[in-house]
Amino acid sequence: MVSGVSKAEGVLLRHVHVAGPLTRAELAERMGVNRSTVLALTARLAQAGLISEHVPLATHRVGRPSLMVAPAADRVHALAFDVAVDRLTAARVALGGQVLARRTAPRPRAGADLEVVVEALATMGTDLHRTAPAGSVCAGVGASYCGMIRRADGMVRYGPDLGWVDQAFGAALGARLGLGLPVAVGNEAHLGALAEHVRGAGAGLRNLIYLHGDVGVGGGIIVGGELLDGDGGYGCELGHMLVNPYGGRRCSCGSRGCLEAEVGERALLDAAGRPASATGRDAVRAVIADAAAGDRRAAAAVRSIGDWLGIGVVNLINLFNPAMLIFGGTMSDVYRAAADRVRFRIASNVLPVSRERVQLCTPLLGDDTTVAGAAELAFADLLADPLGQGALAPTA
Ligand SMILES: [Zn+2]
Repeated sequence: MVSGVSKAEGVLLRHVHVAGPLTRAELAERMGVNRSTVLALTARLAQAGLISEHVPLATHRVGRPSLMVAPAADRVHALAFDVAVDRLTAARVALGGQVLARRTAPRPRAGADLEVVVEALATMGTDLHRTAPAGSVCAGVGASYCGMIRRADGMVRYGPDLGWVDQAFGAALGARLGLGLPVAVGNEAHLGALAEHVRGAGAGLRNLIYLHGDVGVGGGIIVGGELLDGDGGYGCELGHMLVNPYGGRRCSCGSRGCLEAEVGERALLDAAGRPASATGRDAVRAVIADAAAGDRRAAAAVRSIGDWLGIGVVNLINLFNPAMLIFGGTMSDVYRAAADRVRFRIASNVLPVSRERVQLCTPLLGDDTTVAGAAELAFADLLADPLGQGALAPTA
């Protein structure tokens, strides 16, 4: 979704966007080109205001130091949005990945129409755009959404948590923002996988799986350095992997015994005997805290959920032989509490050679994974062809 052929300027800009400042010599080595090529590329990128060059503060080498090349983080940013189940987020993210400013608003679980969500996001986004330093430029807009997204136009084809079917989310948000920029929309777990792959726990790994818990459970699979998103962009619905068809819990998708039905928020809260009115991450964390404090019903619920999670993970490791599995969102809370059950399942049921090296962890980017992924989506066009977009217009 953000891969493809990049111009040489884009390759260089991506290196400093991901790694931070690098010397011209390091860039030449990473890109496999000579230093005069790097010189020509940096000249064009500096002219466009996308990088800056400076003499390194200290060098132990004799002779003229190689100039440091840094992304123009103080000038170029993207707007990134995240529609999660309980929370709406807007952030201004610098080229280079640093979150410069953010706004959040609670999101009611029921009755959140497209117009309501778009209005709330656009209000926060417009505020971030207005308060950006004079002369800075917005290179793109990206949004993370907890549902199945059509890549081409950011249409939410299916968003069970909000009851959305075929809602033109990307187009509506773009129109309401009025920046003249399209809004690239991605599935939250796809974007979480992307962010952790680019600059998180899985940086440098070519094969990883990201499991994201919200009310439901989503996934993102990186194979050979690329997101495996399928024919229409709807792949990696790991939450709807069938694990318990006989007598399993009813799933939001209409099926029965999906992984999401067995390990999602409601499964844990029901198993712990919590009332239907208890929802959200705080309720999940309360069960986990009670389990740790010795509450037997809560502890049994955590063990049971951990076992089902382990069954899902076993299938994923056997199928994809990932180097790493990352548990994000509420799955990070569940995984931390039930890691022993997950590991027991892996030891019992994964083919020995496939479990030799697999690492299990939580996101390095914490709860920023989805926003960071949306920012990567927003920067994708710029990084593919930095000089091809014409002049980036300053915000003020
Ligand atoms: Zn399902």
